[in-house]
Formats: sequence, C-alpha cells, structure tokens
Amino acid sequence: DGITLEKVRENVWEIPQDGEMRVPARVLASEALLEQISDDKTLQQLKNTAHLPGIRKYALCMPDGHQGYGFPVGGVAALDAEDGCISPGGVGYDINCGVRMMKTNLTYADLDGREEELVDALFANVPSGLGGGGVVESGIETIEAILDRGMEWALEEGYATPDDLAHCEDEGVRPDSDPSTVSQKAKDRGKNQIGSLGSGNHFLEVQRVTDVFREDVADAYGLSEDRIVVLIHCGSRGLGHQVCTDYLRKIEKRHGDLLAELPDKELAAAPAGSELAEEYYGAMCAAINFAWVNRQLVMHRTREVFERVFGRDWEEMGMELLYDVAHNIAKKETHDVEGEERELYVHRKGATRAFPAGHPEVPTAYREVGQPIIIPGSMGTGSFVLRGGEHSMTETFGSTAHGAGRVMSRTQAKNEFWGEDVRDDLRDQDRVYVKAQSGATVAEEAPGVYKDVDEVVRVSDALGIGDKVARTFPVCNIKG
Ligand code: 5GP
Ligand code: MN
Ligand code: MN
Repeated sequence: DGITLEKVRENVWEIPQDGEMRVPARVLASEALLEQISDDKTLQQLKNTAHLPGIRKYALCMPDGHQGYGFPVGGVAALDAEDGCISPGGVGYDINCGVRMMKTNLTYADLDGREEELVDALFANVPSGLGGGGVVESGIETIEAILDRGMEWALEEGYATPDDLAHCEDEGVRPDSDPSTVSQKAKDRGKNQIGSLGSGNHFLEVQRVTDVFREDVADAYGLSEDRIVVLIHCGSRGLGHQVCTDYLRKIEKRHGDLLAELPDKELAAAPAGSELAEEYYGAMCAAINFAWVNRQLVMHRTREVFERVFGRDWEEMGMELLYDVAHNIAKKETHDVEGEERELYVHRKGATRAFPAGHPEVPTAYREVGQPIIIPGSMGTGSFVLRGGEHSMTETFGSTAHGAGRVMSRTQAKNEFWGEDVRDDLRDQDRVYVKAQSGATVAEEAPGVYKDVDEVVRVSDALGIGDKVARTFPVCNIKG
C-alpha cells in the first residue's frame, strides 16, 4: 500500500528515509517471507517506528516479523538513552515473554509409549490457563522480593541452582529493577500467578533433537541427536500486562507533545531522562525479573513431574537449563553507532538477543561459541536452537527472530481449524501429544497459523545474525 522497498542485497530490504523519518527502515526477509507481510500493517508500523526521536541506524524488522501493537512483532529499535526515548509499545504487553530450553539425557526411546502418561502428568501439575494459581502462593513481601531480585530469589528459596542462573540472559536478574514503580494493581495480579504458563500462545513442549547442523557448537551446548529437551514459553502474566497498561496511559498523558509528532498513538514514548522514562524502565525491569522467576518455577515443577514419571532424580536425568532468553524487552546496552560508543535503549519486541562469540555478556560456558538462541516453530513443526552470529552486532544491534511468526489472526484461525481435529491429526500423523485447556486454543495455535520456521531460520543463518545449531520436533505439548 504505497510503501516501496529497495533491495539492498539478498534478504535485506530498505524503506528509504523520507518525510519525518529519522532513519531508514530495514526488513530482513526472503521474497517468500516478504510476500506474507504484504497485506497487513507490518511495513507501515515499521516505517512509523523510524520516526521515534533518537532512533539509531535503522528501524528493523526480523524475518519472522508481523503486525503488532504500534511496533511490529519482530521489531528492533535502538533509541538513544541520552537524546532518545523509551516506548512501552516497543517492548509489548507481555514484558519478558521468552523461552527457555532444558536439556535431559533421556532419548526418544525412553519416552516411547509413555507420551500420554507424561503429557497428562505435566498438564495436571504445571499451572496453566486464564484462572489463578501458580507453583507458589505468595503475599506481597514475596512479590516485592521477586521483583527486586529475580532469579536470586529463586536461588535463595531453593527453586534454582547456581547453574540455572548462569544459563539465563543477564543471569536472571535486572539490577535496574525498581519495585516501587510497579502499581499495587500489577502486584496483586502477579500474586497468585508465580509459576504458571498462562493461556493461548504460551506452552510447555517436550521435544526430541532431530538434527544437528554445527557439531562443535552443539557439543558446547550439550545437545545431540535423539535427546529429549523441554521448551518453556511464558512471560510476566498479568503483572507485566498491567505495568505496560499503566505506563502507556501515563506516558500518553504526560508526553502528549511528543506523541503528537508521531504517526501513530500506539508509539507513545517517554523522553530519555524524563521521570516517566526512569519509572517505566524500573517497572519494566521488575516485570522482567518476575518473568524469569515464572519460567524458573515452571521448570522446577517440570523437573518434579519427570522425577515422578521416570522414578529418578532430575540431576540423574541431566535436566539442566541450556539457556533462557527474553523476546519482549528493552535494555540499556552500549553499541557502536557510526564509530561512536552509544548507550541505547535496545527495544526487542518479538526479537531475541543474539550476541556472538567473544561478547562479554555471553555466559562463560558459551563465550567461545556464542549465545544460545531459542526459536520455537509450532506444535506441529520443528523448533530451532541457534547461536549468536558474527554479523549480529553490526546488522541488528545483536538480535534475531523469536519464532516463526503468525500469518493468521486468532479469529481467522478458529474459522479455519477445529481444535479436536488438529489435536487428533497431530497425534495420529506426527505422534505429537497435545493437551490444552480448550479446543479453541488448539485451533488458534494450529501449525498452519504460523509462517515456515525453517525459512525464518534459513534467513537468519544466511545473514549471519543467528546461525543454525540444532532442530527439534515436538513429542508432548501442554497449552493454557
Ligand atoms: P509469541 O511469543 O510471539 O506469541 O510466539 C513465539 C513463537 O512461538 C511463535 O511465533 C510461534 O512460531 C511459536 N509457537 C507458538 N505455539 C507453539 C507451540 O505450541 N510449540 C512450538 N514449538 N512453538 C510454538
Ligand atoms: Mn507472551
Ligand atoms: Mn512470547
């Protein structure tokens, strides 16, 4: 619809800077992936984000990009921390939605014939769905401690090991958290949701490794063919959602002048250095800590379920965290911008950090090969483990895709698919055992609502921003 893309090179497309845009916009995609975002608002939204004050280099859209709230999902925007701004829409409602992968030393043969038992046990014991209830019930002091200390709290309480923290983005703690900036309403919403998947797109999936593409990196990650792994996808539940809602409202109101200059109301942003920028950053970091604890408690419960089902200790089954990465986040990071080191709020909304080998923020265990990146596909296709590619720092502020990306709305999906049929087909044709709170959820999340994850990952690999390490395929899946 009037947006022209210029091909820069293979898989790189540019919307040239024009009008009030402060930088050009770039889409990283193949022709086939571009085709799938040609009719929606993705490109317009991407172009809009290029209007934000202090945006550096380009407004970026990853290969899995699709339309979202204000910013596209799959969007990366680096906004200067001195003369730029911070925008809740560039993080998303589910602050620190993310994924973690836990390894095991079990093989597919160990699960063969026991899938139904395992999926039932997981579904019965891992809290999911819209209703309340988590792994721990807590009062306000517990919430405050979690918001303040993140995974450190989980360690103190015996829900995590030091290795779990070491294998988490930022070691599972955002020191810039300021729990006093999180509203009472947000804290109340979080109270009975600590250690819960939530609904819809969030899931816990038992998978087997089907392919290894980079043997040396897979070795460093402890992955090999046929091994069972567990992928957990969830975020900050009602607490993060409330933080986003609260600050969108406050920022729209107080910084209406800035907003008036922007092409979309959904881009509400607080100028760097303003009171609300500081408060939102503190509250977002608190919600980030909450989400890390949430995924940790879901993983803790998963270890207990495996112990019961297989009658062995989790340590004995090698149930170690490979890595936990956020895909809805904004962080102060230092990047090279035209030869100058700048502190930036790097907004990754439906995008994953992808730091390469040698980067000081990559955990020691992976420093020589690069940061693990986890890219879920769907409950009926592959998912991927990548490693941060050598071009990520120059091309994408150290980022890549976060999934396959949606091609179909939830409403459309329910017209197209029937939950029970999807579930039965997955079981009978692919031996994937799915259990969900409702048939509607299964329809909304049917494999056909997502893009081709192999193509998304191929593009990431070809660009050298995130390189293919291993592919997995689902065995059991539980959904909210
Ligand atoms: P989002 O965080 O944007 O909701 O989703 C992240 C990605 O997870 C989606 O783009 C999709 O590719 C993937 N995904 C959604 N449902 C499932 C599932 O049940 N299993 C796996 N492996 N991936 C999924
Ligand atoms: Mn989420
Ligand atoms: Mn997510």
